[in-house]
Amino acid sequence: MLKGKTALITGSTSGIGLGIARSFAAQGSNIVFNGFGDAKEIEALQADVQKEYGVETAYHGADMSRPAHIEAMMQFAAERFGAVDILVNNAGIQHVANIEDFPVEKWDAIIAINLSSAFHTTRLALPAMKAKNWGRIINIASVHGLIGSAQKSAYVAAKHGIVGLTKVTALENAHSGITCNAICPGWVLTPLVQQQVDARARQQGISNEEAKKGLLMEKQPSGEFVTPQQLGELAVFLSSDAASQVRGVAWNMDGGWVAQ
Ligand code: NAD
Repeated sequence: MLKGKTALITGSTSGIGLGIARSFAAQGSNIVFNGFGDAKEIEALQADVQKEYGVETAYHGADMSRPAHIEAMMQFAAERFGAVDILVNNAGIQHVANIEDFPVEKWDAIIAINLSSAFHTTRLALPAMKAKNWGRIINIASVHGLIGSAQKSAYVAAKHGIVGLTKVTALENAHSGITCNAICPGWVLTPLVQQQVDARARQQGISNEEAKKGLLMEKQPSGEFVTPQQLGELAVFLSSDAASQVRGVAWNMDGGWVAQ
């Protein structure tokens, strides 16, 4: 069902976005990659996905903090593949500090990348989805879109914001074949979280493995990380016909974090 569709995943050169890109490619969707990284490595990544799944891929290096870059990326995707059928707003960054110490430029960057970029991609993707009366918009929020944690003011605000944006996008398109939903992961061991593991190991003078365990024990009852592959499978389900009446939800996959 997703064969021949075009999926654009922001922040797909690493971590969760890459896992989601692979899951859609496995369904036969063409992939538009976005994100930062070494040009050679990104080329190799594209070649690998093309070879493994027999799909077409493209890459645009738009900076998600810059609306003009986002406009250029959406235009590029439309020119390359006709339209974006599946939009996954995934690019995100983190910064950890108390509010009074939180650098203003970090606040602005997190709101721009983790929240406003999804408004821009969504407003630019919707006209073509409406023309086809089919589309899937999946926003990668976080458990922090549902609950808070100390020292993550910008991240928690942006993720609660994107859950709100998800609901409005779903409602405005409720009478159409376009759905919008959010996925709320708990801890996933990606470079974004490895930085937090490293900081914990440094601060507490413990090993990397002990820091990982400590991080999980604190919040995630399963004691295990969620994987990018599992999140990719959930995104594929939300894009399926079976999920056509799943609209405006914030679906957590979090090892039990939010159940506590
Ligand atoms: P990651 O650091 O592995 O990947 C982030 C991706 O975003 C990379 O491809 C990076 O190049 C890209 N990116 C960063 N800034 C960008 C910018 N300005 N413009 C374009 N691309 C940019 O992180 P991840 O853990 O895979 O996170 C992906 C998403 O999942 C984020 O929105 C994050 O908040 C969310 N999330 C992660 C976790 C977790 O535990 N890792 C949990 C919940 C939610």
